[in-house]
Amino acid sequence: MIEDRSDQPSLQGSCHCGAVRLTLPSMPETGTKCNCSLCRRLGGLWVYYPFGTVRIEGHPENTVDYVWGDRCLRTVRCKICGCVTHWEPIGGEPGTRHGVNLSNFEPRLQESVKVRRFDGADTWTFIDP
Ligand SMILES: [Zn+2]
Repeated sequence: MIEDRSDQPSLQGSCHCGAVRLTLPSMPETGTKCNCSLCRRLGGLWVYYPFGTVRIEGHPENTVDYVWGDRCLRTVRCKICGCVTHWEPIGGEPGTRHGVNLSNFEPRLQESVKVRRFDGADTWTFIDP
């Protein structure tokens, strides 16, 4: 785990074993909790960046991916420790939406974002209280 003791939470995160390491291009402001059939199992807190702007080391050599549904994205996890690190658009056009699982970052960074609940299971809208 990468920990940073400075005032700002670190923008670097990693899977549990450290084989996959991610660096965000900027501080995330909002995170999304989704209740779709996959996200509710993974329990991830998703933040989004344009594809190509998040630095990812150890991928694809240390990862496996999972594709389902309309097959427009792949969900990627570490093949050693099993932690889901991100999802990426299949075809990977630079600039298209790319999700990073903030659960792989230090707790202070997770606590700094406004969490929104997304109803991916049914209405495909945000369901904030
Ligand atoms: Zn790992």
